Amino acid sequence: MIHFLPEPKHTCYSGAFIKSINGFTADKIFSRRIIHSAELCCTPGKKGLMLVLEHNPALARNDEYRLEFSSSRVKIISAGEHGAYYAIMTLRQLLESDGIPAEGYIEDWADLEMRILHLDLKRVGWNFEYLMNLPRRIASMKINYLLVEYEDKIKFDFCKIIPAASAFSKDQIRAFAAEAEAHCLEIIPLVQCLGHWEYILKHQKYAGLREYPEDVSMGCPLKPDTFQLFKSMAGEVLELHPNSRFFHIGADETTLLGTCSACSDFKTENSISRLYSDYVNKVFDYIQKENSKTALFWGDMLLHYPEMAEQFLRSAIVVDWSYNPENLREEKIRFRPIRKGALIDVNTYLQEAPPELRKDFDSCVNADAKTGTFDSLPYGGWFAKKGFKVLGASLIRRVFNVLTHAENAVQKNFTG
Ligand SMILES: [Zn+2]
Repeated sequence: MIHFLPEPKHTCYSGAFIKSINGFTADKIFSRRIIHSAELCCTPGKKGLMLVLEHNPALARNDEYRLEFSSSRVKIISAGEHGAYYAIMTLRQLLESDGIPAEGYIEDWADLEMRILHLDLKRVGWNFEYLMNLPRRIASMKINYLLVEYEDKIKFDFCKIIPAASAFSKDQIRAFAAEAEAHCLEIIPLVQCLGHWEYILKHQKYAGLREYPEDVSMGCPLKPDTFQLFKSMAGEVLELHPNSRFFHIGADETTLLGTCSACSDFKTENSISRLYSDYVNKVFDYIQKENSKTALFWGDMLLHYPEMAEQFLRSAIVVDWSYNPENLREEKIRFRPIRKGALIDVNTYLQEAPPELRKDFDSCVNADAKTGTFDSLPYGGWFAKKGFKVLGASLIRRVFNVLTHAENAVQKNFTG
């Protein structure tokens, strides 16, 4: 019995299992990283199969490939690099298991365009060797993006006090990025633009940027140095990832919004949502217009202030994070939009949500755990209705949370 991870779409094979590949040929279109991965599957000089890599643009689904088996050769057919790479990963799983079948085929493609692992480097010190081994391990499971939250783990040039003692040098980060690219993994760097700034605002040098003097979690969006500081960090991180097409700006859980006197006045004269969206739109412009990257952001603040959706740049991708449900089809779905910073279950939502909110979100209350319509990412549909591309984000510590979100992301045609 061969165990694949992940399970390919169609498998049909039989016959004897052959334990080795002794050589390969490849169409010219395949790059050095594919050739190198194919080489690693071969045991030259030993009796075995010939591996043939063939290009066929007709296999156009996400990272699609086809493996064809015969008693003398195994053929990989794909339209692009990624399909070929994942076919090789499947071959490796076969070689590490029973061997390669003598006849039959495997067909596979990904339901989701973006399959992202969030690597959060905050808090603990990371071993560089361990970090360098991650891309190979992650890519073998056909993950194609790595969201890297560096926080204080980069030795910034512009500032010596933000980086932790265990921060990586820029040469180490470049080596890590190259290793990811060699395994068909694209890095999405993440630099928080306003909140989750404990690692910065704990330093006296930056205390003046705090939204509330006693709290180090969030900067003041109206102080020009807040945006300047984000640009200094993001600028150096962008430089380290010239090939990345996406950049995540965080922007979640900024629950102190409107606390300082200037922000409080702005809130009274305009609105709290304007306070947030004016700042975040500036960040979007920097990422999208000045640096030609697509911005990603966590979607929770948009749920606290749904009217902000009209003020936001639609080409940014919203990431709908939720650590519920914890079980595969949990009865309770948590709703965020009623009390700032709080999670509200469906029943509380039905009892407490004001009519203007219910008008927007009632269609998301679709939490029948017993049916196939179970919706573990209820807000995703609301974001999509507002014109955003949507990614669902789960908590890897809870396997059921990952499973239900993946299932829902596919059902709802999310990007990842
Ligand atoms: Zn302020």
